[in-house]
Amino acid sequence: MAHRHHVVIVGAGFGGLAAARHLRAVPVDVTLVDANNFHTFQPLLYQVATAGLDGDDIAYAARGIFHRQRNATFHLGRVERVDLEARTVHLATGAPLVYDTLVLALGAVSNTYGIPGVDEHALGLKSLTEAVELRAHVLRQFERADADPSVVAEGGLTFVIAGGGPTGVELAGGLSELFKVLRRDFPRLDVTRARIVLVEPTDRLLGTFHPRLSEHAARTLRSRGVEVELGVGVAKASSTAVVLTDGRAIPTATLVWTAGVRAHPLADTLGVEQTRGGRIVVAPDLSLPDHPEVFVVGDLAASPAPGGDGLLPQVAPVAIQGGTHVARQIRARLEGRPTSPFRYRDKGSMATIGRNAAVAELPPGIRLTGFVGWLAWLGLHLVQLIGFRNRANVLVNWAWNYLTYDRGARIIVGDP
Ligand SMILES: Cc1cc2nc3c(=O)[nH]c(=O)nc-3n(C[C@H](O)[C@H](O)[C@H](O)COP(=O)(O)OP(=O)(O)OC[C@H]3O[C@@H](n4cnc5c(N)ncnc54)[C@H](O)[C@@H]3O)c2cc1C
Repeated sequence: MAHRHHVVIVGAGFGGLAAARHLRAVPVDVTLVDANNFHTFQPLLYQVATAGLDGDDIAYAARGIFHRQRNATFHLGRVERVDLEARTVHLATGAPLVYDTLVLALGAVSNTYGIPGVDEHALGLKSLTEAVELRAHVLRQFERADADPSVVAEGGLTFVIAGGGPTGVELAGGLSELFKVLRRDFPRLDVTRARIVLVEPTDRLLGTFHPRLSEHAARTLRSRGVEVELGVGVAKASSTAVVLTDGRAIPTATLVWTAGVRAHPLADTLGVEQTRGGRIVVAPDLSLPDHPEVFVVGDLAASPAPGGDGLLPQVAPVAIQGGTHVARQIRARLEGRPTSPFRYRDKGSMATIGRNAAVAELPPGIRLTGFVGWLAWLGLHLVQLIGFRNRANVLVNWAWNYLTYDRGARIIVGDP
């Protein structure tokens, strides 16, 4: 049988999935590789961490995506190395995958900037595993305090969140709603003593949004009991306290790190040009400058923003549009046409603060807050979720939570 052009896509996140799906009608064989057998809808990880949704509501089995795409297969495996000269992808187990075209879509990892104690003691919120672990940790803290109320004075119910970007804001709002449910779960415990401290080193939350929306987010969070600390960062962390850059020590057993990301460490092993944060410098069509057969998309890629104003943000729409663009370039090359530069169309950004409250910034200059912003946020996330089952589950869970003020997924999974 004649050899068909083989496209290997590494990473079944937003970028990799978009690339694979848009290669459906292109005469190539596609292998999509991921360390997990599912796609994670990361924007709703905080809902899993705060018991608003179950883990499998926001995950989609990768093999299911290709039931109706005959030129694509899924391969479960952790990529450890890429040999750009030999055109091979090396996995933790099994034979290497040989490619004609490679799409790298490995995303990003947390960046703790070497702050003492953070790697050892902070919890992350980058994957489904971390979200489920964080949920279990929070619930365990309440169980501990219920068994021995003296742990409250030691910070057992103090939850410090580092980073006032969308993830930190959404997590703080989600936790404050979870605590209302926990008041009913723990009638013997004074849950009003539980603290959420959101720490942001710059002078405002949601730094990429309009300042008016930043103020709205801070005001709403404060009205819901969140302590918003601006202009101060985390200086060091231990198992019993977080020390802030102004010298204050907060006794706590919980530091959640949402304060920064860097490109997946595989980028560091390729010997290619990188920006600060490890992102791979790409040509305008998203290929590697010295390896046109390799494309890089999503959080891993450093593509200039329009007007030379920094880099495109590390958000889902950039990854999805990048993956779609790359699929079109692969087709163009096979048809003997030149590739074209990637042009990102910004459709705005949103962050929810909790029940009936969100901020949204939509082009051209439309700003929404409160209930209207929240409805826009709900609608957009429902539409973007992959799979009818996920959308139906999320809709039912959200309706249930809204009408009953409940958070049904208060489940502790795994060992401490
Ligand atoms: C908590 C959170 C909330 C967010 N909220 C928003 C939001 O509201 N709006 C928004 O636009 N963006 C949001 N983002 C950012 C958005 O999720 C990312 O920009 C987007 O996922 C990037 O897509 P990607 O394809 O580059 O990488 P990812 O979607 O991260 O996919 C990378 C894939 O690579 C796989 N992988 C990693 N290492 C290996 C390996 N060694 N071998 C094989 N596979 C591997 C992973 O399992 C994963 O499936 C959020 C991110 C987080 C973490």
